[in-house]
Amino acid sequence: MNIILLGPPGAGKGTQAKLITEKYSIPHISTGDIFRKNISEKTPLGIEAKRYMDDGQLVPDEVTIGIVNDRLSMEDCKNGFLLDGFPRTVNQAEALDLFLSSNDKKIDTALLIDVPKEFILERMTGRRVCSACGASYHIKFNPPKAEGKCDICGSSLVQRKDDTEETVKERLDVYDRQTQPLIQYYKEQNILETVNGTEEINTVFKKVCDVLGAVK
Ligand code: ADP
Ligand code: ADP
Ligand code: ZN
Repeated sequence: MNIILLGPPGAGKGTQAKLITEKYSIPHISTGDIFRKNISEKTPLGIEAKRYMDDGQLVPDEVTIGIVNDRLSMEDCKNGFLLDGFPRTVNQAEALDLFLSSNDKKIDTALLIDVPKEFILERMTGRRVCSACGASYHIKFNPPKAEGKCDICGSSLVQRKDDTEETVKERLDVYDRQTQPLIQYYKEQNILETVNGTEEINTVFKKVCDVLGAVK
């Protein structure tokens, strides 16, 4: 199963991605996680990506598309994958379609996690992420079992530099301008599915599984 997750920053894509990829045993490919890993390792890619991420802007398509193509070429993507945070522009979506079709593959489902703007700020400012595995927590809605520690791997939780009120507002603008058009793009391909992302995490996951179960 080849899946894309769509939705504004803070919709719960990362949270659902962890649950989906565990259940379906497919790799979770998060471009944000790839960039953050490169930033922490101070690679040339990380140094370039950081300039954009800190301001809430998108990393240029030329950089991002190549990284995803390389990742999708790896052996573990053979039986399916889940993309989280990619594509984010129509240009990226077209490049992805081209890459997949030239490998006799396609996207089965573009799953939109629908969350209105008024929920987003509280979700983002309360978000804490694992510095090692990228798992997402929330101080109020999804606290870890032990304060400040990841339930999965025990590493320390941190607040992302781009999860401040000012940067979140910029990211929401970027979403409206550059990513929102993808909803129409996948609707036209007849592969768009939408779930209401305002409910509790496990309820959202149940609905996601219903949708994915019906698709395949
Ligand atoms: P995204 O990857 O779409 O940016 P995350 O999965 O990181 O979003 O979720 C953003 C924040 O909202 C995190 O702090 C997460 O714990 C919290 N969250 C995720 N899903 C829900 C939900 N259904 N209800 C309340 N909070 C949620
Ligand atoms: P969120 O889901 O909370 O918006 P992500 O972790 O997906 O966060 O992305 C964080 C940042 O990484 C984005 O604001 C952007 O700067 C960069 N980024 C991630 N994915 C892409 C992409 N597909 N294209 C361009 N930039 C990206
Ligand atoms: Zn962890």
